[in-house]
Amino acid sequence: MIPASFAYHRPTSVAQAVALLNELGDDARALAGGHSLIPMMKLRLASPVHLVDLGSITALKGISADGGDLVIGAMTTQHEMIGSDLLAAKIPILRETSLVIADPQVRYVGTLGGNVANGDPGNDLPAVMMCLGATYHIAGKSGERRIAARDFYQGAFVTALKPGEVLTAVRIPVPAVGHGYAYEKLKRKVGDYATAAAAVVLTMNGGTVATCSIGLTNVAETPLWAEEAGRIVTGSTLDAATVKNAVAAAEAITSPAADAHGPAHYRTKMAGVMLARALAGAKARAR
Ligand SMILES: Cc1cc2nc3c(=O)[nH]c(=O)nc-3n(C[C@H](O)[C@H](O)[C@H](O)COP(=O)(O)OP(=O)(O)OC[C@H]3O[C@@H](n4cnc5c(N)ncnc54)[C@H](O)[C@@H]3O)c2cc1C
Repeated sequence: MIPASFAYHRPTSVAQAVALLNELGDDARALAGGHSLIPMMKLRLASPVHLVDLGSITALKGISADGGDLVIGAMTTQHEMIGSDLLAAKIPILRETSLVIADPQVRYVGTLGGNVANGDPGNDLPAVMMCLGATYHIAGKSGERRIAARDFYQGAFVTALKPGEVLTAVRIPVPAVGHGYAYEKLKRKVGDYATAAAAVVLTMNGGTVATCSIGLTNVAETPLWAEEAGRIVTGSTLDAATVKNAVAAAEAITSPAADAHGPAHYRTKMAGVMLARALAGAKARAR
């Protein structure tokens, strides 16, 4: 399949990219790694007249520490996230999640920004960003604004990103030293999107859960933050009865579509299975 023709623009600064996107209007789209947008264009599900390639904007690349946060540039690739020692040491769930996105070819060019800005409920990083309490930095014609990942997703492929805006970075508070984490993803084969997946980040105090945050992937039109399920396990030893209650609370907020991944009821149940596994895995890793 061949996409419709388009004009190609390659700005070298965020200001230029924002100016171009605003000048070109609804006919223009930002291009990052192209591994969601180009397939959509080949299928003629998207036909932007102008592509504004963010690939030459060096300010959008890199991973750095800022106080108690890590800040990851939007054009940092999933491959670079996997290879980052800083990320592995401070927020290892991001490495674990990136490793189960697609395959190495996709991860070499697919970016963090594209993955979280895309709004596809099948993308793996958005639910993890909700779980971690991340904040998105967005540049527009009126300057920079910030929005919590938990407030960003509004529907399938619908986000709080306004026309003419560029996601520049994701800011993530570093979880406490010794925290436990796990991202459990059910997929039919290597390289597939999730049938269902669950992210857990928790801290333990003695044998008791002190804090717990949970995200769910691809079991609704948006990624989900399972706030009530996290509240249920907090203060518990993660005994079987509590895990069952938390799984029920998480399943209750899902509303998956029946599709090639399976019937809706199956995908909801698999979200529960992934959550139970992620809770056990996170507890085992917590110190
Ligand atoms: C075969 C295959 C399998 C895949 N499997 C998975 C999977 O299992 N899990 C998963 O999570 N993903 C998967 N993906 C998607 C992959 O991770 C993409 O790379 C990602 O979704 C989009 O990132 P990108 O950099 O390629 O963005 P692009 O495709 O360039 O852009 C995607 C969208 O985001 C917008 N955008 C991109 N960057 C910005 C920005 N900085 N500011 C504003 N808007 C922006 C674009 O305008 C576009 O609308 C798969 C892709 C393929 C081709």
